[in-house]
Amino acid sequence: MGEQFIFTKCRTVCYHCGEDVDQIIKVVSPQAQVVCSNCGATRIFTPRTEDRERHEEVFTHIGEHEIWNLDATATCKNCGVTGPHDMIVGSHHLTTRCRNCGYAHYYRFDLEYIGQCPIPE
Ligand SMILES: [Zn+2]
Ligand SMILES: [Zn+2]
Repeated sequence: MGEQFIFTKCRTVCYHCGEDVDQIIKVVSPQAQVVCSNCGATRIFTPRTEDRERHEEVFTHIGEHEIWNLDATATCKNCGVTGPHDMIVGSHHLTTRCRNCGYAHYYRFDLEYIGQCPIPE
């Protein structure tokens, strides 16, 4: 199976509910999702074309609030090694990169929705 799959989480202050809770991150080849475990606020990212000339821009584009630099374990589609990947999640993009061979996936922000409507206590 050549599909890349990452399931991880990042504890941070949710941009929607403002609570310091886990944000669940799921990445497969056709889509990436970031879901707040508290309020269900979901951000969907879709793959963008792999444009080599823009790689540097993606990795150095800081200036948005809320950039997460994470580690995740995944199986690389390119070299086939299961190992550490760097993952960068920003407001408008999500990137994963294999530490073994440098192969990267780029996703850009597509839409967001709120999956749950918790009743405040
Ligand atoms: Zn939330
Ligand atoms: Zn690789």
